[in-house]
Amino acid sequence: AIRHYAPSEDCLAGKTILVTGAGAGIGRIAALTYARYGATVLLLGRTSSKLEQVYDEIERAGGPQPAILPMDLEHAPYDEMQQLHNLIYKEFGHLDGILHNAGILGDLTPLEMYDVTTFTKVMHVNATATFMLTQALLPLLKAADHGSIVFTSSSVGTHPRAFWGAYALSKQAVEGMSDIFTQETQNTTSLRFNCINPGGTRTNMRAHAFPGEDPMSLKTPEDIMSGYVCLMSDDSINVRGQVVALQPKD
Ligand code: NDP
Repeated sequence: AIRHYAPSEDCLAGKTILVTGAGAGIGRIAALTYARYGATVLLLGRTSSKLEQVYDEIERAGGPQPAILPMDLEHAPYDEMQQLHNLIYKEFGHLDGILHNAGILGDLTPLEMYDVTTFTKVMHVNATATFMLTQALLPLLKAADHGSIVFTSSSVGTHPRAFWGAYALSKQAVEGMSDIFTQETQNTTSLRFNCINPGGTRTNMRAHAFPGEDPMSLKTPEDIMSGYVCLMSDDSINVRGQVVALQPKD
């Protein structure tokens, strides 16, 4: 049902939603789409010039004024994330959702020869920083009427696959994190946690992972946005602890 969700025009009106990795790929389209459905979008990413372009696009389209939050998830210390919590509280008063979308692929190689430095970096950006940011922003999200945290997994996060190394393990960690947060909070807060598995989608990351593939054979980020909107909207308040796969193309 989530894949075939038909959002109403104002289904995200009044919500403040943070999107990580909002400057490119799926995150960029998610940010533009959330704004189109009425959300104030907080654009988090490591390359300010890309975030500025998304900011301008939202403004041009007449969406609610977004904000740019430059942060490199590989290096940002925990207290920078706590400062972000305080800044969001001061400037916006509330936070209704996070789309944890930023991610890196790392190497596609057997674990036996996987570079340890790359392993640590992939685990940190994809899993540890996702945990840190979630924990730091949790007070604001728990205070929201119907807060929604959406993690981004992958097929290899559900079923590990040879040669996918740290990427697969980091996505397994993300799925486990969503499950544990769900169990630990479901009786005490309306805040919900879910994962999206976008499935093969036409982006730079996908092109790096499958260099021989024809990008035109893949669905685009735009094609999968109904699932992204649904999980942020109040139409999904009873969806908790799920991994929502947006594959196959349909
Ligand atoms: P892209 O590589 O196109 O975009 C990734 C985004 O994450 C970019 O905006 C990038 O910023 C940002 N990012 C990377 N590292 C950091 C960092 N250290 N700090 C802050 N931001 C960072 O990837 P996709 O759009 O394809 O992927 C989005 C999500 O979907 C990822 O979590 C990915 O694992 C997942 N996914 C994608 C699939 C696909 O087929 N595309 C399939 C399954 C899952 P910058 O541009 O500045 O580098």
